[in-house]
Amino acid sequence: MSLPSHYSVIFSFRRSTSWVYSVLAQSVAVVLLLSTGCHVSQTKRPRPISEGSVQSLRLELPPSLEHERSEYESEVLKGLDEVANFFRSSGFELPSQKLIESVLVFDSSSKGREYMVREYGAPLKSIPETFSGTVEGRRLLLVSHESYREIWRKLYSEWPWTDKTYHQLIVHELAHRAHEAISISRFGSADAMGPPWFFEGLAVVCAGQFETDQPPMSREEMEKQVGLGRTPKASYPLYGRIVRSLVAEFGMKTLIPKASEQGFPEILWSNQVMHKPGKK
Ligand SMILES: [Zn+2]
Repeated sequence: MSLPSHYSVIFSFRRSTSWVYSVLAQSVAVVLLLSTGCHVSQTKRPRPISEGSVQSLRLELPPSLEHERSEYESEVLKGLDEVANFFRSSGFELPSQKLIESVLVFDSSSKGREYMVREYGAPLKSIPETFSGTVEGRRLLLVSHESYREIWRKLYSEWPWTDKTYHQLIVHELAHRAHEAISISRFGSADAMGPPWFFEGLAVVCAGQFETDQPPMSREEMEKQVGLGRTPKASYPLYGRIVRSLVAEFGMKTLIPKASEQGFPEILWSNQVMHKPGKK
């Protein structure tokens, strides 16, 4: 689905990433809003984002959720640490500038959608009714725990809701923001996040969503899904499974820098073949 022309300049660098930022939804309605840019500075010395930076996090809650402020706050802070650890363990220290400055929680999807229309001028119909969360610049937008639970029941009835499910939404969205920050600071552009199936799968893996005991997919299965530049039908469980399968074989450290290269993911196997003869 292409973007209306008047969006093309503002959202051009996010063209490929647009829909995904917002929803943990089955329908891949394209979400046009999204960040108008990200200002990750070129800092010299990376340091963990949790050091000092999250103290100033601004949390905006609807009055009905004020009594849960400390819970929301700790979920987000915990999520920030988890995301930093995830990327660090893959060899990518986050840029020192804080990932997010504020968190807005809506008590329903419709409130969140209205906000995005108002704030970013996105057409309402472009935002799925199951909108759950997104990161917009340094602002994390989330529906409430209870709203998300309802959305989850509708979309993922075969996946049980657990104590971790809401937290995983937070981590998923923060993972996108961290991935974007790393892509810009290390590779010069958010396009380095790679194809949607990859950066969505990465966020799913980072958040520990849709885990199963299925064995990794075979190379043939993966090529059928994402070979030759294919994008499979939008499915977070599938994207997660593909990325988990690739991680099992190559490691996230290899995948992140390769994700935006021409011929990804096939190049992974061709490199492997090329390198084999020299290996003991
Ligand atoms: Zn996502």
